[in-house]
Amino acid sequence: MPETPSTDTPDGFAAFGLIPPLLATLEQVGHKRPSTIQVQAIPPLLKGRDVLVASQTGSGKTAAFVLPMLQILSKGESAHGPRALILEPTRELAAQTAAVCRQLGRRLSLKTRVICGGTSREQQVRSIVDGVDIVVATHGRLLDLVMQGDLVLEYLSYLVLDEADRLLDEDFSESMTALTPYFPDVPPQTVFCSATLPEPVMDLAKRVTRDPVRVEVAAETFTPKKIRQRAMFVEKEDKPETVARILERFPGRSMVFTRTKANVDLLARVLRKHNIKSETLHGDRSQGARNKALDLFRQGRVPVLVTTDIASRGLDISDVDLVINMDMPETPEAYVHRIGRTARAGKKGAAFSLINIDERLSLRDIEKHIGYRIRIATEDALDT
Ligand code: AMP
Repeated sequence: MPETPSTDTPDGFAAFGLIPPLLATLEQVGHKRPSTIQVQAIPPLLKGRDVLVASQTGSGKTAAFVLPMLQILSKGESAHGPRALILEPTRELAAQTAAVCRQLGRRLSLKTRVICGGTSREQQVRSIVDGVDIVVATHGRLLDLVMQGDLVLEYLSYLVLDEADRLLDEDFSESMTALTPYFPDVPPQTVFCSATLPEPVMDLAKRVTRDPVRVEVAAETFTPKKIRQRAMFVEKEDKPETVARILERFPGRSMVFTRTKANVDLLARVLRKHNIKSETLHGDRSQGARNKALDLFRQGRVPVLVTTDIASRGLDISDVDLVINMDMPETPEAYVHRIGRTARAGKKGAAFSLINIDERLSLRDIEKHIGYRIRIATEDALDT
Protein backbone atom coordinates (compact mmCIF):
# COMPACT_ATOMS: atom_id res chain seq x y z
CA MET A 1 0.00 0.00 0.00
CA PRO A 2 1.46 3.36 -0.91
CA GLU A 3 2.26 5.65 2.00
CA THR A 4 0.18 8.46 0.61
CA PRO A 5 -3.43 7.44 0.21
CA SER A 6 -5.36 10.35 -1.15
CA THR A 7 -8.29 11.83 0.66
CA ASP A 8 -9.54 14.16 -2.02
CA THR A 9 -11.18 11.67 -4.38
CA PRO A 10 -14.25 10.38 -2.62
CA ASP A 11 -15.22 8.32 -5.63
CA GLY A 12 -11.83 6.68 -5.82
CA PHE A 13 -10.80 5.07 -9.07
CA ALA A 14 -14.27 5.27 -10.62
CA ALA A 15 -14.01 9.06 -10.78
CA PHE A 16 -11.19 8.73 -13.34
CA GLY A 17 -13.53 7.09 -15.81
CA LEU A 18 -11.67 3.80 -15.72
CA ILE A 19 -13.44 0.98 -17.56
CA PRO A 20 -15.42 -1.60 -15.52
CA PRO A 21 -12.94 -4.51 -15.95
CA LEU A 22 -10.19 -2.38 -14.43
CA LEU A 23 -12.41 -1.19 -11.59
CA ALA A 24 -13.42 -4.77 -10.83
CA THR A 25 -9.79 -5.87 -10.77
CA LEU A 26 -8.77 -2.98 -8.51
CA GLU A 27 -11.45 -3.99 -6.09
CA GLN A 28 -10.36 -7.61 -6.25
CA VAL A 29 -6.70 -6.83 -5.58
CA GLY A 30 -7.64 -4.53 -2.73
CA HIS A 31 -6.60 -1.15 -4.12
CA LYS A 32 -9.48 0.74 -2.56
CA ARG A 33 -8.41 4.32 -3.12
CA PRO A 34 -5.93 5.87 -5.50
CA SER A 35 -2.67 7.14 -4.03
CA THR A 36 -1.71 10.80 -4.43
CA ILE A 37 0.54 10.08 -7.38
CA GLN A 38 -2.27 8.11 -9.04
CA VAL A 39 -4.72 10.99 -8.52
CA GLN A 40 -2.27 13.31 -10.20
CA ALA A 41 -1.05 11.08 -13.02
CA ILE A 42 -3.99 8.98 -14.19
CA PRO A 43 -6.32 11.75 -15.50
CA PRO A 44 -3.73 13.45 -17.76
CA LEU A 45 -2.50 10.06 -18.99
CA LEU A 46 -6.03 9.01 -19.91
CA LYS A 47 -6.25 12.24 -21.91
CA GLY A 48 -3.16 11.29 -23.86
CA ARG A 49 -0.76 13.74 -22.25
CA ASP A 50 2.90 12.98 -21.53
CA VAL A 51 3.62 12.84 -17.81
CA LEU A 52 6.76 13.32 -15.76
CA VAL A 53 6.45 11.41 -12.47
CA ALA A 54 8.85 12.39 -9.71
CA SER A 55 8.27 9.74 -7.12
CA GLN A 56 9.82 6.73 -5.46
CA THR A 57 8.83 3.12 -5.19
CA GLY A 58 6.07 2.74 -2.67
CA SER A 59 4.01 5.64 -3.99
CA GLY A 60 1.96 3.46 -6.29
CA LYS A 61 3.67 4.85 -9.38
CA THR A 62 3.59 1.57 -11.29
CA ALA A 63 -0.20 1.34 -11.22
CA ALA A 64 -0.27 5.07 -12.05
CA PHE A 65 1.22 4.41 -15.47
CA VAL A 66 -0.09 0.86 -15.97
CA LEU A 67 -3.81 1.56 -15.48
CA PRO A 68 -4.09 4.28 -18.18
CA MET A 69 -1.93 2.15 -20.48
CA LEU A 70 -4.25 -0.85 -20.09
CA GLN A 71 -7.31 1.29 -20.70
CA ILE A 72 -5.85 2.97 -23.78
CA LEU A 73 -4.63 -0.32 -25.27
CA SER A 74 -7.89 -2.14 -24.59
CA LYS A 75 -9.76 0.51 -26.57
CA GLY A 76 -7.41 0.19 -29.56
CA GLU A 77 -6.73 -2.57 -32.07
CA SER A 78 -3.97 -5.12 -31.68
CA ALA A 79 -1.06 -4.68 -34.11
CA HIS A 80 1.89 -6.58 -35.59
CA GLY A 81 4.10 -5.43 -32.76
CA PRO A 82 3.85 -4.11 -29.22
CA ARG A 83 1.79 -0.98 -28.69
CA ALA A 84 3.33 -0.26 -25.31
CA LEU A 85 6.96 -0.42 -24.22
CA ILE A 86 8.13 -0.08 -20.62
CA LEU A 87 11.88 0.30 -20.16
CA GLU A 88 13.35 -0.79 -16.83
CA PRO A 89 16.89 -0.53 -15.45
CA THR A 90 17.09 -4.14 -14.21
CA ARG A 91 15.69 -7.56 -15.04
CA GLU A 92 14.07 -7.90 -11.63
CA LEU A 93 12.20 -4.64 -12.10
CA ALA A 94 11.13 -5.70 -15.58
CA ALA A 95 9.68 -8.92 -14.16
CA GLN A 96 7.99 -7.05 -11.34
CA THR A 97 6.41 -4.43 -13.60
CA ALA A 98 5.26 -7.12 -16.04
CA ALA A 99 3.59 -8.84 -13.10
CA VAL A 100 1.68 -5.62 -12.33
CA CYS A 101 0.60 -5.33 -15.99
CA ARG A 102 -0.73 -8.90 -15.88
CA GLN A 103 -2.30 -8.49 -12.47
CA LEU A 104 -4.19 -5.29 -13.26
CA GLY A 105 -4.89 -6.40 -16.83
CA ARG A 106 -6.24 -9.82 -15.92
CA ARG A 107 -9.74 -9.02 -17.21
CA LEU A 108 -8.44 -7.68 -20.53
CA SER A 109 -7.06 -9.72 -23.39
CA LEU A 110 -3.69 -8.01 -23.61
CA LYS A 111 -0.42 -9.88 -23.84
CA THR A 112 2.55 -8.79 -21.75
CA ARG A 113 6.06 -10.09 -22.43
CA VAL A 114 9.40 -9.47 -20.77
CA ILE A 115 12.43 -8.92 -22.99
CA CYS A 116 15.70 -8.86 -21.11
CA GLY A 117 19.15 -10.39 -20.94
CA GLY A 118 20.10 -13.34 -18.79
CA THR A 119 17.56 -15.70 -20.31
CA SER A 120 17.32 -17.48 -23.64
CA ARG A 121 17.01 -15.14 -26.61
CA GLU A 122 15.33 -17.86 -28.66
CA GLN A 123 12.66 -18.35 -26.06
CA GLN A 124 11.96 -14.64 -25.91
CA VAL A 125 11.64 -14.40 -29.66
CA ARG A 126 9.26 -17.36 -29.62
CA SER A 127 7.21 -15.71 -26.89
CA ILE A 128 6.42 -12.75 -29.12
CA VAL A 129 5.77 -14.38 -32.49
CA ASP A 130 2.09 -14.87 -31.74
CA GLY A 131 1.64 -11.20 -31.02
CA VAL A 132 2.30 -9.01 -28.03
CA ASP A 133 0.68 -5.83 -26.75
CA ILE A 134 3.00 -4.78 -23.93
CA VAL A 135 6.75 -5.28 -23.82
CA VAL A 136 8.60 -4.69 -20.55
CA ALA A 137 12.30 -4.59 -21.32
CA THR A 138 15.83 -3.80 -20.39
CA HIS A 139 17.49 -1.89 -23.18
CA GLY A 140 20.32 -4.24 -24.23
CA ARG A 141 18.27 -7.26 -25.26
CA LEU A 142 15.52 -5.04 -26.64
CA LEU A 143 17.97 -3.31 -28.96
CA ASP A 144 19.33 -6.68 -30.04
CA LEU A 145 15.86 -7.96 -30.98
CA VAL A 146 14.89 -4.75 -32.73
CA MET A 147 18.12 -4.54 -34.75
CA GLN A 148 17.79 -8.17 -35.83
CA GLY A 149 14.24 -7.54 -36.99
CA ASP A 150 12.68 -9.87 -34.41
CA LEU A 151 10.65 -7.08 -32.86
CA VAL A 152 9.10 -4.04 -34.53
CA LEU A 153 8.45 -0.86 -32.62
CA GLU A 154 6.52 1.00 -35.30
CA TYR A 155 3.16 0.45 -33.61
CA LEU A 156 4.19 1.95 -30.27
CA SER A 157 1.69 4.38 -28.85
CA TYR A 158 2.73 4.29 -25.17
CA LEU A 159 6.27 4.47 -23.85
CA VAL A 160 7.42 4.40 -20.22
CA LEU A 161 10.91 5.11 -18.95
CA ASP A 162 10.74 3.78 -15.40
CA GLU A 163 13.36 4.70 -12.79
CA ALA A 164 14.92 6.91 -15.42
CA ASP A 165 17.59 8.18 -13.04
CA ARG A 166 18.98 4.65 -13.04
CA LEU A 167 18.71 4.19 -16.78
CA LEU A 168 21.09 7.04 -17.36
CA ASP A 169 24.40 5.72 -18.47
CA GLU A 170 26.31 5.77 -21.69
CA ASP A 171 25.04 2.37 -22.79
CA PHE A 172 21.46 3.43 -22.30
CA SER A 173 21.99 6.71 -24.12
CA GLU A 174 23.46 4.81 -27.06
CA SER A 175 20.58 2.33 -27.04
CA MET A 176 18.01 5.15 -27.05
CA THR A 177 19.75 6.82 -29.96
CA ALA A 178 19.83 3.51 -31.82
CA LEU A 179 16.19 2.67 -31.01
CA THR A 180 14.62 6.02 -31.87
CA PRO A 181 14.67 5.50 -35.68
CA TYR A 182 12.56 2.36 -35.14
CA PHE A 183 9.84 4.29 -33.30
CA PRO A 184 6.77 5.34 -35.30
CA ASP A 185 6.71 8.75 -36.97
CA VAL A 186 4.09 9.95 -34.52
CA PRO A 187 5.97 9.84 -31.21
CA PRO A 188 4.34 7.63 -28.58
CA GLN A 189 2.67 9.07 -25.51
CA THR A 190 5.48 9.03 -22.97
CA VAL A 191 5.66 8.59 -19.20
CA PHE A 192 8.94 9.46 -17.57
CA CYS A 193 9.41 8.26 -13.97
CA SER A 194 12.30 9.13 -11.74
CA ALA A 195 12.87 9.28 -7.99
CA THR A 196 14.97 12.39 -8.42
CA LEU A 197 15.25 14.98 -11.19
CA PRO A 198 18.82 16.29 -11.31
CA GLU A 199 19.97 18.04 -14.47
CA PRO A 200 21.10 15.08 -16.58
CA VAL A 201 17.82 13.30 -15.85
CA MET A 202 15.85 16.42 -16.79
CA ASP A 203 17.84 16.63 -20.01
CA LEU A 204 16.73 13.13 -20.93
CA ALA A 205 13.15 13.94 -19.89
CA LYS A 206 13.15 16.93 -22.22
CA ARG A 207 14.45 14.77 -25.03
CA VAL A 208 11.77 12.11 -24.77
CA THR A 209 8.63 13.95 -23.57
CA ARG A 210 6.54 16.70 -25.09
CA ASP A 211 5.03 19.35 -22.81
CA PRO A 212 4.68 16.85 -19.95
CA VAL A 213 2.38 17.29 -16.95
CA ARG A 214 4.66 17.11 -13.93
CA VAL A 215 3.42 15.14 -10.94
CA GLU A 216 5.36 14.84 -7.75
CA VAL A 217 5.23 13.42 -4.24
CA ALA A 218 7.57 15.17 -1.85
CA ALA A 219 10.34 13.11 -0.25
CA GLU A 220 8.92 13.86 3.21
CA THR A 221 6.05 11.52 2.51
CA PHE A 222 8.51 8.69 2.42
CA THR A 223 10.03 9.18 5.86
CA PRO A 224 7.08 8.38 8.03
CA LYS A 225 7.81 9.02 11.68
CA LYS A 226 6.09 5.78 12.54
CA ILE A 227 9.36 4.05 11.68
CA ARG A 228 11.35 3.74 14.90
CA GLN A 229 14.75 4.94 13.77
CA ARG A 230 17.83 4.41 15.90
CA ALA A 231 21.52 4.81 15.25
CA MET A 232 24.31 3.25 17.23
CA PHE A 233 28.05 3.57 17.09
CA VAL A 234 29.83 0.34 16.27
CA GLU A 235 33.40 -0.30 15.17
CA LYS A 236 33.62 -1.50 11.61
CA GLU A 237 34.95 -4.96 12.49
CA ASP A 238 32.22 -5.52 15.10
CA LYS A 239 29.37 -4.80 12.71
CA PRO A 240 28.58 -8.33 11.45
CA GLU A 241 28.42 -9.79 14.98
CA THR A 242 26.30 -6.86 16.13
CA VAL A 243 23.85 -7.45 13.27
CA ALA A 244 23.63 -11.13 14.20
CA ARG A 245 22.88 -10.30 17.85
CA ILE A 246 20.20 -7.78 16.83
CA LEU A 247 18.56 -10.32 14.51
CA GLU A 248 18.53 -12.86 17.33
CA ARG A 249 16.68 -10.37 19.52
CA PHE A 250 14.23 -9.10 16.90
CA PRO A 251 12.51 -11.93 15.11
CA GLY A 252 10.46 -11.02 12.06
CA ARG A 253 11.20 -10.16 8.47
CA SER A 254 14.40 -8.18 8.24
CA MET A 255 16.47 -6.63 5.50
CA VAL A 256 20.13 -5.83 6.08
CA PHE A 257 21.87 -3.39 3.78
CA THR A 258 25.60 -3.33 3.21
CA ARG A 259 27.65 -1.16 0.96
CA THR A 260 29.60 -3.86 -0.88
CA LYS A 261 29.11 -7.33 -2.30
CA ALA A 262 31.96 -8.57 -0.10
CA ASN A 263 30.13 -7.39 3.00
CA VAL A 264 26.96 -9.16 1.88
CA ASP A 265 28.87 -12.43 1.73
CA LEU A 266 30.76 -11.74 4.94
CA LEU A 267 27.57 -11.10 6.87
CA ALA A 268 25.88 -14.16 5.38
CA ARG A 269 28.75 -16.28 6.72
CA VAL A 270 28.46 -14.77 10.19
CA LEU A 271 24.69 -15.29 10.22
CA ARG A 272 25.17 -18.91 9.24
CA LYS A 273 27.43 -19.37 12.27
CA HIS A 274 24.63 -17.98 14.43
CA ASN A 275 22.10 -20.34 12.78
CA ILE A 276 20.16 -17.41 11.33
CA LYS A 277 18.69 -18.26 7.95
CA SER A 278 19.33 -15.60 5.34
CA GLU A 279 19.36 -15.05 1.58
CA THR A 280 21.59 -12.65 -0.31
CA LEU A 281 21.22 -10.34 -3.28
CA HIS A 282 24.07 -8.70 -5.10
CA GLY A 283 25.18 -7.97 -8.61
CA ASP A 284 27.57 -10.90 -8.90
CA ARG A 285 24.93 -13.55 -8.23
CA SER A 286 23.34 -15.24 -11.23
CA GLN A 287 19.87 -14.23 -12.29
CA GLY A 288 18.47 -17.57 -11.18
CA ALA A 289 20.06 -17.28 -7.75
CA ARG A 290 18.73 -13.73 -7.31
CA ASN A 291 15.20 -14.73 -8.28
CA LYS A 292 15.29 -17.69 -5.94
CA ALA A 293 16.57 -15.58 -3.03
CA LEU A 294 13.83 -13.02 -3.61
CA ASP A 295 11.12 -15.66 -3.84
CA LEU A 296 12.22 -17.34 -0.61
CA PHE A 297 12.24 -14.01 1.20
CA ARG A 298 8.94 -12.81 -0.29
CA GLN A 299 7.22 -16.07 0.63
CA GLY A 300 8.49 -15.72 4.19
CA ARG A 301 10.46 -18.95 4.04
CA VAL A 302 13.68 -17.14 4.88
CA PRO A 303 13.34 -14.28 7.37
CA VAL A 304 16.45 -12.27 6.51
CA LEU A 305 17.57 -10.72 3.23
CA VAL A 306 21.07 -9.27 3.00
CA THR A 307 21.61 -6.96 0.06
CA THR A 308 23.42 -4.03 -1.51
CA ASP A 309 21.48 -0.97 -2.66
CA ILE A 310 22.23 -1.75 -6.27
CA ALA A 311 20.68 -5.20 -6.06
CA SER A 312 17.57 -4.14 -4.22
CA ARG A 313 16.63 -0.69 -5.43
CA GLY A 314 13.18 -0.41 -6.89
CA LEU A 315 12.17 -3.92 -5.93
CA ASP A 316 8.77 -4.03 -4.34
CA ILE A 317 9.74 -5.67 -1.09
CA SER A 318 7.41 -4.51 1.61
CA ASP A 319 6.10 -5.92 4.84
CA VAL A 320 9.54 -5.83 6.38
CA ASP A 321 9.58 -5.45 10.17
CA LEU A 322 13.14 -4.32 10.53
CA VAL A 323 15.71 -2.64 8.32
CA ILE A 324 19.33 -2.73 9.47
CA ASN A 325 21.92 -0.54 7.85
CA MET A 326 25.10 -2.46 8.51
CA ASP A 327 26.85 0.17 6.40
CA MET A 328 25.47 3.63 5.86
CA PRO A 329 24.18 4.36 2.36
CA GLU A 330 25.96 6.73 0.01
CA THR A 331 23.15 9.30 -0.04
CA PRO A 332 20.33 10.46 2.25
CA GLU A 333 17.90 9.52 -0.53
CA ALA A 334 19.13 5.93 -0.39
CA TYR A 335 18.58 5.92 3.39
CA VAL A 336 14.98 7.02 2.92
CA HIS A 337 14.56 4.39 0.27
CA ARG A 338 15.98 1.63 2.45
CA ILE A 339 13.89 2.38 5.52
CA GLY A 340 10.77 2.78 3.36
CA ARG A 341 10.68 -1.03 3.14
CA THR A 342 9.18 -1.09 6.57
CA ALA A 343 6.12 0.44 8.22
CA ARG A 344 4.03 0.12 5.08
CA ALA A 345 0.28 0.16 5.09
CA GLY A 346 0.01 1.64 8.55
CA LYS A 347 2.13 -1.07 10.17
CA LYS A 348 4.94 -0.35 12.58
CA GLY A 349 8.54 -0.82 11.67
CA ALA A 350 12.04 -0.15 12.86
CA ALA A 351 15.27 0.91 11.21
CA PHE A 352 18.62 0.58 12.97
CA SER A 353 21.79 2.08 11.57
CA LEU A 354 25.25 0.94 12.60
CA ILE A 355 27.66 3.79 12.34
CA ASN A 356 31.42 3.75 12.57
CA ILE A 357 33.56 6.79 13.02
CA ASP A 358 33.84 7.46 9.27
CA GLU A 359 30.09 7.46 8.84
CA ARG A 360 29.15 10.20 11.33
CA LEU A 361 28.87 12.81 8.63
CA SER A 362 26.46 10.76 6.59
CA LEU A 363 24.18 10.55 9.64
CA ARG A 364 24.18 14.34 9.83
CA ASP A 365 23.33 14.60 6.12
CA ILE A 366 20.45 12.17 6.56
CA GLU A 367 19.05 14.14 9.49
CA LYS A 368 19.18 17.32 7.46
CA HIS A 369 17.37 15.60 4.62
CA ILE A 370 14.56 14.08 6.68
CA GLY A 371 14.24 17.11 8.95
CA TYR A 372 14.58 15.48 12.34
CA ARG A 373 17.13 13.88 14.63
CA ILE A 374 17.62 10.13 14.76
CA ARG A 375 17.97 8.94 18.32
CA ILE A 376 21.33 7.43 19.24
CA ALA A 377 20.92 4.19 21.17
CA THR A 378 23.08 1.48 22.64
CA GLU A 379 22.51 -2.10 21.61
CA ASP A 380 20.76 -2.87 24.91
CA ALA A 381 18.37 0.04 24.56
CA LEU A 382 17.27 -0.62 21.00
CA ASP A 383 13.69 -1.37 21.90
CA THR A 384 13.10 1.94 23.64
P1 AMP B 1 4.92 1.03 -6.45
O1 AMP B 1 5.17 2.41 -5.93
O2 AMP B 1 4.37 1.06 -7.83
O3 AMP B 1 6.14 0.16 -6.33
O4 AMP B 1 3.77 0.35 -5.56
C1 AMP B 1 3.95 0.06 -4.20
C2 AMP B 1 2.91 -0.93 -3.68
O5 AMP B 1 1.64 -0.29 -3.55
C3 AMP B 1 2.65 -2.14 -4.56
O6 AMP B 1 2.70 -3.28 -3.74
C4 AMP B 1 1.24 -1.94 -5.12
O7 AMP B 1 0.58 -3.17 -5.29
C5 AMP B 1 0.58 -1.12 -4.05
N1 AMP B 1 -0.44 -0.20 -4.56
C6 AMP B 1 -0.39 0.56 -5.67
N2 AMP B 1 -1.50 1.33 -5.77
C7 AMP B 1 -2.26 1.06 -4.69
C8 AMP B 1 -3.53 1.54 -4.22
N3 AMP B 1 -4.22 2.48 -4.87
N4 AMP B 1 -4.02 1.04 -3.06
C9 AMP B 1 -3.30 0.10 -2.38
N5 AMP B 1 -2.11 -0.40 -2.76
C10 AMP B 1 -1.59 0.08 -3.91
